[in-house]
Amino acid sequence: MATILDGKKLSEKIKQEIAEEVKKLTDASLQPPGLAVIIVGNNPASKVYVSSKKKACAATGIFSLEVALDENITQDKLIEEIEKLNKNDKINGILLQLPLPKHFDEHSALEAISPEKDVDGFHPINVGKLYIGLDSFVPCTPKGIIEIIKRYNISVSGKNAVVIGRSNIVGKPIAALLLKENATVTIAHSKTQNLPELVKSADIVVSAIGKPNFVKGDWIKEGAVVIDVGINSVDDPSSPKGYKLVGDVDFEEAEKKASYITPVPGGVGPMTIAMLLSNTLKARLRIGS
Ligand code: NDP
Repeated sequence: MATILDGKKLSEKIKQEIAEEVKKLTDASLQPPGLAVIIVGNNPASKVYVSSKKKACAATGIFSLEVALDENITQDKLIEEIEKLNKNDKINGILLQLPLPKHFDEHSALEAISPEKDVDGFHPINVGKLYIGLDSFVPCTPKGIIEIIKRYNISVSGKNAVVIGRSNIVGKPIAALLLKENATVTIAHSKTQNLPELVKSADIVVSAIGKPNFVKGDWIKEGAVVIDVGINSVDDPSSPKGYKLVGDVDFEEAEKKASYITPVPGGVGPMTIAMLLSNTLKARLRIGS
């Protein structure tokens, strides 16, 4: 039976460590880290994410500012708001909650964020730095995965890693990070042939697809490390909400073969917010006192 990689517990520990670092700043009468979260429009899921980010900031002593913008504003107005935050000394990190309503150009909005305040790590400068091995802001979900791996002392060097999914926010950056840790990395996607065979060769499997129970237990090599990034809602009449969240991996079967596995919920998810706080602290510490 696999050891469960408890992202919830680990994220609490990391948040406590961050709170201690923030306290050192405020005890020395220095400014705490500040995070601005921009939300455009009324997407209910985005609202929930923004509110949990604000709560996490409050719990660690990080100053947070929500900038809620009407969904009918223009792209220019959005850029203007981002530029104001770029100049705001109280703000060390800027996060643009995605997705934006359809008429916005997401790429140019993300590029308007100062790379020094880009705590989501989506600015092309930070993406480029990640790939050439320079210090950068690393996107929060992949950063959280590496943190789990390191804190559980899982060795990566020389291992075969298969990443399923090639999105800019999860698949590609986690592949770059695993490569940096000296894994031999293969990235699979919807056009990949023979996925089960490929996964069977993996010592480390990272699944970031978004399809419930897609990765079967018998694809998992004996002793493999399984990181399930997927968050999928499936009907569950026995739950008061009528649904439950599951990952991409058939957990019950995979757990029997893996050496380590992340649950969903409670695995990678909670680490993502902890890494946002960590990146915000990093942005604050970079500018010194
Ligand atoms: P995207 O939809 O951007 O990417 C999904 C990837 O899966 C694509 O690269 C796609 O391939 C690939 N894919 C789809 N179908 C298959 C298939 N049949 N075989 C192999 N590959 C396939 O998703 P994200 O990366 O944004 O998110 C992935 C999952 O992770 C989602 O469930 C999301 O909710 C979750 N997530 C969780 C986070 C957390 O904090 N835990 C944070 C971010 C995401 P192709 O490129 O060819 O289309």
